[in-house]
Amino acid sequence: MTIGELAKKWNETNPGSAKLDVFNPSTKELLGSLNLTEEIELAVKTAETHLNTLTPPKRAEILQKASLLLKDNLDEAGHIITLENGKPLKEAKGEVLYCAEYLEWYAEEAKRIYGEILPEWDPKLDLKVYLEPIGVVGVITPWNFPLSMLGRKVGAAIAAGCPSVAKPAPETPFSALFFEEILKEAGLPDGYFKVIISDAEKTGDIFCKNKTVRKISFTGSTEVGRILSSKADLKKLTMELGGNAPALVLSDCEMSVLKECGAFGKFRNAGQACTAINRFIIQESKVKDATDFLLEASKNIKVGDGFNADSTIGPLITEESLNRIIGLIEDATSKGAKILSGEVKYHGQFLEPVVLDGVTPSMRIFNEEIFGPVVSIIRAKSDEEVLTLANQTDYGLAAYVFSKHQGQKFAKRLDFGMVGINMVYLALVQAPFGGIKNSGFGREGGREGVKEFLKIKYVGEVS
Ligand code: ADP
Repeated sequence: MTIGELAKKWNETNPGSAKLDVFNPSTKELLGSLNLTEEIELAVKTAETHLNTLTPPKRAEILQKASLLLKDNLDEAGHIITLENGKPLKEAKGEVLYCAEYLEWYAEEAKRIYGEILPEWDPKLDLKVYLEPIGVVGVITPWNFPLSMLGRKVGAAIAAGCPSVAKPAPETPFSALFFEEILKEAGLPDGYFKVIISDAEKTGDIFCKNKTVRKISFTGSTEVGRILSSKADLKKLTMELGGNAPALVLSDCEMSVLKECGAFGKFRNAGQACTAINRFIIQESKVKDATDFLLEASKNIKVGDGFNADSTIGPLITEESLNRIIGLIEDATSKGAKILSGEVKYHGQFLEPVVLDGVTPSMRIFNEEIFGPVVSIIRAKSDEEVLTLANQTDYGLAAYVFSKHQGQKFAKRLDFGMVGINMVYLALVQAPFGGIKNSGFGREGGREGVKEFLKIKYVGEVS
């Protein structure tokens, strides 16, 4: 379905006086207007009626089919993502395939949710542990990976047997509506999963207060994560929040390895990823080579509309985002950082890559998530100092180590939920994605991803 068709269908079935206008961040053209619904409680209530209605093989079948359907609709889905998020079409299609991969993974996991029989201490005792769906899930997703974040959460929820209600980011609702259509076409009963286009705060409050919602799965800023955590009153939560990923460039870093993946680690999705490299922390002896590479890589980036075949990065999602990043750069330069890439250039919401040298912990850019195409270089005297600086953050999502021999040793001492050694692509379906500290808690993907949606029931019996 196209954005026009999705908007028409939504507006016909969801009356509402207030509207959400959705814009293309590249052209600023209006893509569509959606009625804001007030029927959040109703969606939750309907979802509840689906609890315990689908067997594991049926859930697996639906997920498998949805995965195939996404692949069949690769072009259409990719177009929607590029139109509302701005990322290059190739990256958007990559996201569609990535989402399909999650659904396939969870389809397989759905059939492998095992309970346990506990050891018999007394022949009369029968002790069993059941894993049951936790209940209706409230899902809140961001705009940077508008399709795959839903797939990662909702796929796992369905595998576990949980119906869910999802509120997508206001910038990217169409990917979510498309996802709902795919699940329905794959055979998921109407209302088992429902997207709601509604006010963020109101939805968050209902998810927190409504007793039928037994779990909230959120990906977004640390700020909103804190608000939800404080309101959720003992509800089970998954919080995938912000990051401040360091790339540790150690004295034995092999430049060829850094060159292979460093640019992707920084510039994917124009740097708008919570796992994006936020700080290149470089040991003295590698500063020249690494800086030369980062400057070269930045020059090779082509900023433009995601539908231009040669664009390697698209626009920033909003003007506020651009202004916030400019603010970070100004703060850094006012405290002594040097811009190596020449004058900061931007037009519309497109920002040309910026390379900043001499970043220190006193600067905001050292401590805050950039979420944009800005390379921040921090110089350190020794490998030990690289490590100290890397851990000097309240965030703890992803960290990357570039080193020939010391990767494992440094990984053990990094205070992060995920560490990549000579690699930057950590968000793999079979792996537990998630952070610690201000980056949140809970895991998505892997075996752990499904467990997040299960509750443990222990039953003891004396015969
Ligand atoms: P970002 O700044 O990257 O947009 P946010 O944390 O603001 O990150 O947004 C992530 C998701 O959280 C979006 O779907 C947004 O609408 C939603 N959101 C924002 N504020 C609230 C809130 N107070 N309660 C619940 N959800 C919210």
